[in-house]
Amino acid sequence: AKASGKQSIRCFDPAMQEEVNARLLLEDDIRRGLQAQEFIPYFQPQLNELGQVTGAEVLARWQHAERGLLTPNYFISVAEQAELIEQIDLQMLRQACLQLALWQQTSTTSSLRLAVNLSARLLYRTDFVEMILQFLAESGADPRQLKLELTETMLFDDMTTAIARMQELKKLGIRFSIDDFGTGYSSLAYLQKLPLNQLKIDQSFVRALLIEDSSEAIIKAICALADSLDLEVIAEGVETQAQYQKLLSLDCLHFQGYLFGRPMPLAEFESWLSQQPSS
Ligand code: C2E
Ligand code: CA
Ligand code: CA
Ligand code: CA
Repeated sequence: AKASGKQSIRCFDPAMQEEVNARLLLEDDIRRGLQAQEFIPYFQPQLNELGQVTGAEVLARWQHAERGLLTPNYFISVAEQAELIEQIDLQMLRQACLQLALWQQTSTTSSLRLAVNLSARLLYRTDFVEMILQFLAESGADPRQLKLELTETMLFDDMTTAIARMQELKKLGIRFSIDDFGTGYSSLAYLQKLPLNQLKIDQSFVRALLIEDSSEAIIKAICALADSLDLEVIAEGVETQAQYQKLLSLDCLHFQGYLFGRPMPLAEFESWLSQQPSS
């Protein structure tokens, strides 16, 4: 009764009604974009402490027929509400597998890993493992080159199922990273239960690193925790040389951020790669 009450209020508020209409239009447009395969992967480099490129994070972009290139802030929240996010994730996963298979054929790119963002919706689908297996088989990609980025909050929806699903995927050789680590307020006990490979320090901590002492303390703590659990740490949102040097001194050994490279379309990423001294 409460919900329908809200609905009827909306109908009489022209501004809200307009907002609802705009959202419905965007939903339909996302459906059309998915059909037309307008969602494409951009690649943002990830590097190790030696400055070597270890791979990239796949970030979805919408190459819209009329509006041009759109970033996730334009479509992610509506895609989540409309339960379309999993379709976007699947298209990214599929394209990531195809790309890994192509890179495997060349020695300079064969060890590159791709990290793909996963929505809760997709992780909890019972046919998720089946779909991954299908992408791997179709492409011939090596699952060990594939990393999935999850957030803490999505794991807490149903920890038992999440663990089981992750264990299955780990058996295939797939890796896991916890995205935005440190921002979901949670007990850390769960970390031991999950088959993780990496913690990804949220960019808010990196941004505050040379400004607030507390950020340095938090990053130090994350690195110590990761070390004791035998996990890799990657910092995202690294924009300055000073942040980079500071992170190195704190024993964070993997990096991603504008300082090294922005998210790039495939051709640009490949030409960027070919200009890297150590790739
Ligand atoms: P995220 O997974 O935390 O990705 C990092 C975001 O930070 C990306 O924004 C990236 O472009 C941006 N970034 C990278 N380096 C820097 C830097 O040095 N400085 C600053 N200021 N920003 C930097 P983007 O590409 O707009 O993506 C935003 C969010 O959308 C992502 O945050 C992720 O949550 C979501 N997203 C993107 N692609 C996908 C996808 O395929 N599936 C799902 N489920 N979510 C996605
Ligand atoms: Ca991510
Ligand atoms: Ca992140
Ligand atoms: Ca995020």
